[in-house]
Amino acid sequence: MLSKSEQLEKLNKKMLACSQCVLRSGCSRVVFGAGNPEAEIMFIGEAPGKKEDETGQPFVGSSGRILDKMLADMHIKRENVYITNICKCRPPKNRDPLPEEIKSCWPWLEKQIAIIDPKVIITLGKYALNCFLPTAKISKVHGHIISLNIKKIGSINLLPFYHPAAARINKKTRTLFNEDFQKIPKIIQQIKKES
Ligand code: URA
Repeated sequence: MLSKSEQLEKLNKKMLACSQCVLRSGCSRVVFGAGNPEAEIMFIGEAPGKKEDETGQPFVGSSGRILDKMLADMHIKRENVYITNICKCRPPKNRDPLPEEIKSCWPWLEKQIAIIDPKVIITLGKYALNCFLPTAKISKVHGHIISLNIKKIGSINLLPFYHPAAARINKKTRTLFNEDFQKIPKIIQQIKKES
């Protein structure tokens, strides 16, 4: 039986060979995701930006700095969580990923979730949220834990947050983003109590 880390490594090799959508031909690197394969918390963003495309690491640009600050404020080490995106390749000029690109990348995310099997999945922004709940409005559901059953994965605990980029440009969103982050320890405690 392979460890979670070995399973992820094997998956990443397969991801490298993916050419399911046009994004792969326009990006420099595939940004698989990074962090602890045994993580209790998995963050899922939208897609790599310029810095991520250059380094192969998720959330290392301006949005990453906001995420890092929030993690530090909550005494959560980045190396203890797992961070990835719904699309593993950078869309040209950072445009929003298209529905067909999200759809073709979904099986990779599905496999990552199945391997890591986190206690909670924190989606960052509406695109990641709508991958799981297509009609949900982030303004209504952010900061609330939602139990879901996903085909091929089983039951998951979803915790939608605003995207750090939205928190960067809007003061009100930043306040909500900060407040949602404060809820993490209590929510994890609650999930552990119930499982
Ligand atoms: N924004 C995202 O959604 N993901 C990244 O990795 C970087 C910025």
